[in-house]
Amino acid sequence: MFYGHYCGAWIIKVLEPKIPLWVLMVAVQFIDFIFCLFILFDIEEVRITRGFTKSNDLELIFIPYTHSLIAVIGWSILYGVWYKISRYDGGNRAAFLVGLAVLSHWFEDLLVHKEDLPLTFYDTQTKYGFGLWNIPIVHYPLEFLLFFGSYYYYVKNTEVHPSKIQITRYTDKGFNNSNYIQSSRDDQASKWVKILLIYSLCTYIPSELISAPENCKLLVIIMLLSYVIMAILAHRLDKVRVTRHNNRISDKLKLLNE
Ligand SMILES: [Zn+2]
Repeated sequence: MFYGHYCGAWIIKVLEPKIPLWVLMVAVQFIDFIFCLFILFDIEEVRITRGFTKSNDLELIFIPYTHSLIAVIGWSILYGVWYKISRYDGGNRAAFLVGLAVLSHWFEDLLVHKEDLPLTFYDTQTKYGFGLWNIPIVHYPLEFLLFFGSYYYYVKNTEVHPSKIQITRYTDKGFNNSNYIQSSRDDQASKWVKILLIYSLCTYIPSELISAPENCKLLVIIMLLSYVIMAILAHRLDKVRVTRHNNRISDKLKLLNE
Protein backbone atom coordinates (compact mmCIF):
# COMPACT_ATOMS: atom_id res chain seq x y z
CA MET A 1 0.00 0.00 0.00
CA PHE A 2 1.30 3.45 -0.89
CA TYR A 3 -1.35 6.18 -1.02
CA GLY A 4 -3.75 4.50 1.40
CA HIS A 5 -1.32 5.15 4.25
CA TYR A 6 -2.03 8.90 4.07
CA CYS A 7 -5.57 8.28 5.32
CA GLY A 8 -4.33 8.33 8.95
CA ALA A 9 -2.61 11.69 8.46
CA TRP A 10 -5.68 13.49 7.09
CA ILE A 11 -7.94 12.14 9.84
CA ILE A 12 -5.54 12.76 12.75
CA LYS A 13 -4.92 16.34 11.53
CA VAL A 14 -8.64 17.07 11.96
CA LEU A 15 -8.74 15.36 15.39
CA GLU A 16 -5.61 17.16 16.67
CA PRO A 17 -4.99 20.37 14.70
CA LYS A 18 -1.90 21.22 16.77
CA ILE A 19 0.17 18.56 15.01
CA PRO A 20 1.80 19.99 11.86
CA LEU A 21 0.46 18.21 8.79
CA TRP A 22 3.94 17.47 7.43
CA VAL A 23 4.80 15.61 10.67
CA LEU A 24 1.80 13.33 10.07
CA MET A 25 2.56 12.87 6.37
CA VAL A 26 6.07 11.69 7.28
CA ALA A 27 4.74 9.60 10.21
CA VAL A 28 2.39 7.47 8.12
CA GLN A 29 5.24 6.68 5.68
CA PHE A 30 8.01 6.63 8.31
CA ILE A 31 8.37 2.84 8.05
CA ASP A 32 8.82 3.12 4.29
CA PHE A 33 11.26 6.04 4.66
CA ILE A 34 13.51 3.77 6.77
CA PHE A 35 12.81 0.86 4.41
CA CYS A 36 14.02 2.89 1.41
CA LEU A 37 17.21 3.88 3.25
CA PHE A 38 17.81 0.27 4.36
CA ILE A 39 17.41 -0.90 0.75
CA LEU A 40 19.86 1.76 -0.46
CA PHE A 41 22.41 0.59 2.14
CA ASP A 42 21.73 -3.14 1.58
CA ILE A 43 20.44 -3.72 5.11
CA GLU A 44 17.12 -5.11 3.87
CA GLU A 45 16.28 -6.86 0.61
CA VAL A 46 13.62 -6.51 -2.04
CA ARG A 47 13.50 -7.96 -5.54
CA ILE A 48 11.42 -7.05 -8.59
CA THR A 49 9.73 -10.25 -9.76
CA ARG A 50 7.35 -9.63 -12.65
CA GLY A 51 3.86 -10.82 -11.79
CA PHE A 52 4.72 -11.48 -8.14
CA THR A 53 1.30 -10.12 -7.20
CA LYS A 54 -1.49 -9.04 -9.52
CA SER A 55 -1.04 -5.39 -8.50
CA ASN A 56 2.74 -5.00 -8.31
CA ASP A 57 6.06 -6.80 -8.67
CA LEU A 58 7.54 -6.23 -5.20
CA GLU A 59 9.00 -9.40 -3.73
CA LEU A 60 9.92 -8.36 -0.18
CA ILE A 61 12.56 -10.86 0.83
CA PHE A 62 14.09 -9.54 4.04
CA ILE A 63 12.37 -6.63 5.84
CA PRO A 64 12.42 -7.42 9.60
CA TYR A 65 13.97 -4.12 10.78
CA THR A 66 11.31 -1.96 9.19
CA HIS A 67 8.24 -4.13 8.63
CA SER A 68 8.14 -6.59 11.53
CA LEU A 69 5.43 -5.72 14.06
CA ILE A 70 7.97 -5.40 16.88
CA ALA A 71 10.15 -3.03 14.81
CA VAL A 72 7.15 -0.90 13.81
CA ILE A 73 6.15 -0.58 17.49
CA GLY A 74 9.73 0.53 18.22
CA TRP A 75 9.76 3.10 15.38
CA SER A 76 6.33 4.39 16.52
CA ILE A 77 7.59 4.96 20.07
CA LEU A 78 10.75 6.63 18.76
CA TYR A 79 8.82 9.00 16.50
CA GLY A 80 6.28 9.78 19.28
CA VAL A 81 9.11 10.53 21.74
CA TRP A 82 10.82 12.76 19.17
CA TYR A 83 7.54 14.68 18.79
CA LYS A 84 7.15 15.01 22.57
CA ILE A 85 10.62 16.53 23.02
CA SER A 86 10.35 18.67 19.87
CA ARG A 87 9.07 22.26 19.95
CA TYR A 88 5.67 21.25 18.62
CA ASP A 89 2.43 21.62 20.64
CA GLY A 90 -0.17 19.15 21.79
CA GLY A 91 1.66 17.36 24.61
CA ASN A 92 1.17 13.68 25.35
CA ARG A 93 -2.04 13.34 23.34
CA ALA A 94 -0.40 14.69 20.17
CA ALA A 95 2.74 12.57 20.71
CA PHE A 96 0.53 9.49 21.13
CA LEU A 97 -1.41 10.25 17.94
CA VAL A 98 1.83 10.82 16.01
CA GLY A 99 3.09 7.40 17.21
CA LEU A 100 -0.26 5.87 16.24
CA ALA A 101 0.12 7.32 12.73
CA VAL A 102 3.44 5.46 12.39
CA LEU A 103 1.90 2.24 13.74
CA SER A 104 -1.08 2.45 11.34
CA HIS A 105 1.32 1.73 8.45
CA TRP A 106 1.80 -1.90 9.50
CA PHE A 107 -1.89 -2.73 9.78
CA GLU A 108 -2.64 -1.21 6.36
CA ASP A 109 0.28 -3.15 4.87
CA LEU A 110 -1.09 -6.29 6.54
CA LEU A 111 -4.27 -5.96 4.43
CA VAL A 112 -2.51 -5.83 1.06
CA HIS A 113 0.86 -7.59 1.36
CA LYS A 114 1.43 -11.19 0.47
CA GLU A 115 2.63 -13.17 3.50
CA ASP A 116 5.85 -11.22 4.00
CA LEU A 117 5.32 -9.31 7.27
CA PRO A 118 7.09 -10.89 10.25
CA LEU A 119 6.17 -10.30 13.89
CA THR A 120 9.70 -10.21 15.31
CA PHE A 121 13.28 -9.80 14.07
CA TYR A 122 14.04 -13.51 14.42
CA ASP A 123 10.81 -15.04 13.26
CA THR A 124 11.76 -15.62 9.65
CA GLN A 125 9.34 -18.49 9.12
CA THR A 126 5.91 -17.19 10.07
CA LYS A 127 4.96 -14.11 8.11
CA TYR A 128 1.61 -12.46 7.63
CA GLY A 129 -0.34 -10.62 4.95
CA PHE A 130 -3.93 -10.91 3.75
CA GLY A 131 -2.86 -10.49 0.12
CA LEU A 132 -5.32 -7.93 -1.26
CA TRP A 133 -2.63 -7.01 -3.80
CA ASN A 134 -3.73 -10.24 -5.49
CA ILE A 135 -7.34 -9.08 -5.67
CA PRO A 136 -7.05 -5.86 -7.71
CA ILE A 137 -10.81 -5.42 -7.89
CA VAL A 138 -10.80 -4.92 -4.10
CA HIS A 139 -7.34 -3.38 -3.67
CA TYR A 140 -7.60 -0.52 -6.21
CA PRO A 141 -10.94 0.89 -4.99
CA LEU A 142 -9.87 0.40 -1.34
CA GLU A 143 -6.66 2.38 -1.74
CA PHE A 144 -8.43 5.07 -3.79
CA LEU A 145 -11.17 5.38 -1.18
CA LEU A 146 -8.73 5.47 1.75
CA PHE A 147 -6.73 8.34 0.26
CA PHE A 148 -9.31 10.45 -1.53
CA GLY A 149 -12.08 9.77 1.02
CA SER A 150 -9.92 10.94 3.93
CA TYR A 151 -8.61 13.90 1.91
CA TYR A 152 -12.20 14.93 1.27
CA TYR A 153 -12.86 14.59 5.03
CA TYR A 154 -9.87 16.88 5.74
CA VAL A 155 -10.93 19.51 3.20
CA LYS A 156 -14.54 19.46 4.50
CA ASN A 157 -13.36 19.94 8.09
CA THR A 158 -10.89 22.74 7.41
CA GLU A 159 -11.23 26.24 6.09
CA VAL A 160 -9.12 29.19 5.07
CA HIS A 161 -6.66 30.31 7.74
CA PRO A 162 -7.70 33.50 9.64
CA SER A 163 -4.51 35.25 8.54
CA LYS A 164 -5.63 34.82 4.95
CA ILE A 165 -9.00 36.47 5.55
CA GLN A 166 -9.54 40.15 4.99
CA ILE A 167 -12.53 41.80 6.65
CA THR A 168 -13.89 44.81 4.82
CA ARG A 169 -16.51 47.10 6.30
CA TYR A 170 -18.94 49.01 4.16
CA THR A 171 -21.92 51.17 4.98
CA ASP A 172 -25.13 51.20 3.07
CA LYS A 173 -26.12 54.89 3.46
CA GLY A 174 -29.59 54.47 2.00
CA PHE A 175 -30.68 52.20 4.85
CA ASN A 176 -28.27 53.66 7.38
CA ASN A 177 -26.88 50.41 8.60
CA SER A 178 -23.43 48.99 8.62
CA ASN A 179 -22.48 45.78 7.02
CA TYR A 180 -19.30 43.76 7.09
CA ILE A 181 -18.28 41.55 4.32
CA GLN A 182 -15.74 38.87 4.30
CA SER A 183 -13.31 39.44 1.51
CA SER A 184 -11.69 36.13 1.85
CA ARG A 185 -8.39 35.39 0.27
CA ASP A 186 -9.73 31.95 -0.13
CA ASP A 187 -8.10 31.55 -3.52
CA GLN A 188 -4.73 30.72 -1.93
CA ALA A 189 -6.26 28.08 0.33
CA SER A 190 -8.21 26.44 -2.46
CA LYS A 191 -5.23 26.69 -4.79
CA TRP A 192 -3.19 24.38 -2.54
CA VAL A 193 -6.13 22.00 -2.13
CA LYS A 194 -6.21 21.67 -5.91
CA ILE A 195 -2.43 21.39 -6.31
CA LEU A 196 -2.31 18.54 -3.80
CA LEU A 197 -5.27 16.83 -5.45
CA ILE A 198 -3.72 17.08 -8.92
CA TYR A 199 -0.31 15.90 -7.68
CA SER A 200 -1.96 12.94 -5.93
CA LEU A 201 -3.97 11.93 -8.99
CA CYS A 202 -0.97 12.31 -11.31
CA THR A 203 1.25 10.14 -9.10
CA TYR A 204 -1.39 7.74 -7.75
CA ILE A 205 -2.42 6.45 -11.17
CA PRO A 206 1.14 5.65 -12.41
CA SER A 207 2.10 4.18 -9.01
CA GLU A 208 -0.75 1.70 -9.40
CA LEU A 209 -0.60 0.98 -13.11
CA ILE A 210 3.02 1.32 -14.29
CA SER A 211 5.44 -1.51 -13.55
CA ALA A 212 8.22 -0.81 -11.06
CA PRO A 213 11.70 -0.28 -12.55
CA GLU A 214 13.94 -3.35 -12.55
CA ASN A 215 16.50 -1.55 -10.40
CA CYS A 216 15.30 -1.62 -6.74
CA LYS A 217 17.54 1.25 -5.72
CA LEU A 218 16.04 3.46 -8.41
CA LEU A 219 12.59 2.41 -7.21
CA VAL A 220 13.25 3.39 -3.58
CA ILE A 221 14.75 6.74 -4.67
CA ILE A 222 11.50 7.45 -6.57
CA MET A 223 9.52 6.41 -3.49
CA LEU A 224 11.57 8.67 -1.20
CA LEU A 225 11.18 11.57 -3.59
CA SER A 226 7.41 11.16 -3.83
CA TYR A 227 7.07 11.00 -0.01
CA VAL A 228 9.17 14.15 0.42
CA ILE A 229 7.17 16.07 -2.23
CA MET A 230 3.92 15.00 -0.56
CA ALA A 231 5.17 16.24 2.85
CA ILE A 232 6.23 19.61 1.34
CA LEU A 233 2.88 20.08 -0.43
CA ALA A 234 1.03 19.17 2.77
CA HIS A 235 3.11 21.71 4.69
CA ARG A 236 2.12 24.44 2.19
CA LEU A 237 -1.54 23.41 2.50
CA ASP A 238 -1.30 23.43 6.30
CA LYS A 239 -0.16 27.07 6.25
CA VAL A 240 -3.31 28.28 4.51
CA ARG A 241 -5.95 26.08 6.13
CA VAL A 242 -7.16 25.56 9.67
CA THR A 243 -9.54 23.09 11.28
CA ARG A 244 -13.08 24.45 11.30
CA HIS A 245 -13.91 24.08 14.98
CA ASN A 246 -10.69 25.95 15.77
CA ASN A 247 -11.36 28.89 13.54
CA ARG A 248 -13.24 31.46 15.60
CA ILE A 249 -12.92 34.02 12.81
CA SER A 250 -15.78 32.36 10.96
CA ASP A 251 -18.02 32.66 14.05
CA LYS A 252 -17.09 36.34 14.46
CA LEU A 253 -17.87 37.03 10.83
CA LYS A 254 -21.24 35.36 11.23
CA LEU A 255 -22.02 37.61 14.24
CA LEU A 256 -20.82 40.75 12.40
CA ASN A 257 -23.03 39.98 9.42
CA GLU A 258 -26.14 39.53 11.56
ZN1 LIG B 1 5.39 -0.36 4.03
